Amino acid sequence: MTTPNQLMYNYNRLPIGFERGAGIWLWDKEGHRYLDTVAGIAVCGLGHAHPAISKAISEQSESLLHTSNLYQIPLQQKLASKLSDLTGLDSAFFCNSGSEANEAAIKLTRLYAHKKGCQNPTIAVMQNAFHGRTMGAWSATDTHDVYFSPLLEGFIQIPFADINKLKELIQSTPNLSAVMLEPVQGEGGIHIAPDEYLCAVRELCDQHDLLMILDEVQTGVGRTGQWYCYQHSGILPDLLTSAKALGNGVPIGACLARESVSQHLKPGMHGSTYGGNPLACRAALAVIDTIERYDLCRQAAKVGDYLLTTLRAQLNPSIVKEVRGRGLMIGIELHRSHPELVNIALKNHLLINLTAGCVIRLLPPLILTQEQAEEIVVQLMKVLEEAEHHENM
Ligand code: PLP
Repeated sequence: MTTPNQLMYNYNRLPIGFERGAGIWLWDKEGHRYLDTVAGIAVCGLGHAHPAISKAISEQSESLLHTSNLYQIPLQQKLASKLSDLTGLDSAFFCNSGSEANEAAIKLTRLYAHKKGCQNPTIAVMQNAFHGRTMGAWSATDTHDVYFSPLLEGFIQIPFADINKLKELIQSTPNLSAVMLEPVQGEGGIHIAPDEYLCAVRELCDQHDLLMILDEVQTGVGRTGQWYCYQHSGILPDLLTSAKALGNGVPIGACLARESVSQHLKPGMHGSTYGGNPLACRAALAVIDTIERYDLCRQAAKVGDYLLTTLRAQLNPSIVKEVRGRGLMIGIELHRSHPELVNIALKNHLLINLTAGCVIRLLPPLILTQEQAEEIVVQLMKVLEEAEHHENM
């Protein structure tokens, strides 16, 4: 299968497509079944074709898909109120992706700073961070960019999870307005910010009147074993972004904020045509309801722990340097890159994703059972040995 020329070449697509899915499985058009540890890059938290989501979407599509934010959207209100209950943040803006949610967070931060009299607000961002590919989110990302300059001003990078570097930056940057980070860096290779670090950031933000922005686009909606990863550390950010698993495949993003931050937003300052339409909100409400009903945050924590422990015990240390993770967000760092690894896994009907050069990133659906976790381990052992053998030939 080749990529049609009409598509821009912005993805290296594998030579396979899928016709249908169910739970953690996908099937190609020949009817071969694949074990999916990617879940659409942390999107399909409930797995593929979850009946509760299919039902919600199909019912909603028969009554109303879209009206516009020119009108009241009761499902949007309901979702905002649900997210507020789950996170402790009291206002929501809905959009269609993680990048857009981060754009909203950046704009709200600037607005808040301007209202306080800061003319050129700066946001501390992290080395190795990923926040998306729109210009604001891209400027906050550790991109090593050479082609899309000029990037947006107003971001300063510091090392991830290093509280002293943040303290130094605060001392040297009077216009610092916020700190933005992922509690677990996903694209960057599954690096976990310790809970104590998040608590220390919160404390510094309180002391110096800075906003704490958490990008939970990848870690959110149960992935790490809590609704949102910051809940492991007992803090509350000022701004929180969510997307990916929120709609289980129906595009929706959200920027949640303390009301004291979002209060400055006035009509026309920010918006989105599709954002928070009835279809997307209905899907997100069904996702949240299903996670609650089946206690899937707890399941992700439990099965994730099991998977992490088993991988650490079983994988060959001469191939694997380190296994890191929280809940069902797991990174397996290899000693060296294996260019054929993903293809070898594909031949074994296992879908895996490589990030940050040589980190296998596992993001299976939260519905994963212990038996299925065992199957992932067995398959991975086989694939890694094959890749090692292949490259030594
Ligand atoms: N933020 C994080 C932490 C992400 O992992 C991603 C996507 O991978 C994004 C933002 C961008 O999200 P989207 O691709 O939906 O714009």
